[in-house]
Amino acid sequence: CGIIGIVGKEQVADRLVDGLRRMEYRGYDSAGVCTVHDGELVRRRAPGKLVNLVRELARDPAPGTTGIAHTRWATHGAPTAANAHPHATAVLALVHNGIIENFRQLKDALAARGRTFESDTDTEVVAHLLSEQVEAGLSPQDAVKAVLPQLRGAFALAIAFKDYPDMLIGARLGSPLVLGFGEGETYLGSDALALAPLTQQIAYLDEGDWVVITRDGAQVFDKENRSAERAVTTSGASA
Ligand code: GLU
Repeated sequence: CGIIGIVGKEQVADRLVDGLRRMEYRGYDSAGVCTVHDGELVRRRAPGKLVNLVRELARDPAPGTTGIAHTRWATHGAPTAANAHPHATAVLALVHNGIIENFRQLKDALAARGRTFESDTDTEVVAHLLSEQVEAGLSPQDAVKAVLPQLRGAFALAIAFKDYPDMLIGARLGSPLVLGFGEGETYLGSDALALAPLTQQIAYLDEGDWVVITRDGAQVFDKENRSAERAVTTSGASA
């Protein structure tokens, strides 16, 4: 339902949670965060209100300067901790807004190839499809190029990779995703409001776009994987 991602120069967990708080108005049933830290994916999730996630993070912090976070509005699978996003494998973690309509067929094929699932969500198939590619030696960019055309339905995605602590990849089709540009930091969000305390410099992704963000900025690609420019505007959303 709500997505935020930060490739930052300072710790991100608190700022990710702040971004989620700004999207509470959308409604949600669970929430989660994943940072990339010391070659590990550090994931915390909790059903119910954000305060539950905040408590979880107080008990067990998620250090790191790159991370993703999500508030979930369940479409496939009950609102439990196991179904909360981010969904993770050994190599990556991701958050998703929308519905993967062909998830059943993709899940059956993944299971037949020996992948095991931890959730009842449509989302988790995307994590496994990308992981198969990364585990086969593809770069995150090439993995995304290979997998996006297999997905039917609507999605906004933010993906963190265990071995790439200074980068996130985003993608959108049918669900909004915006880019935000800070001083030595770059952001992803499902709306400009979530990013308002971080930056007013916003770019809207087009349908089918995907993007690699680093501290230095963003490289956008269109649905044909051609490099693309998306106009940066100053958002009116107030902090
Ligand atoms: N379809 C996904 C799920 O049920 C994402 C829902 C959302 O947009 O929050 O987990």
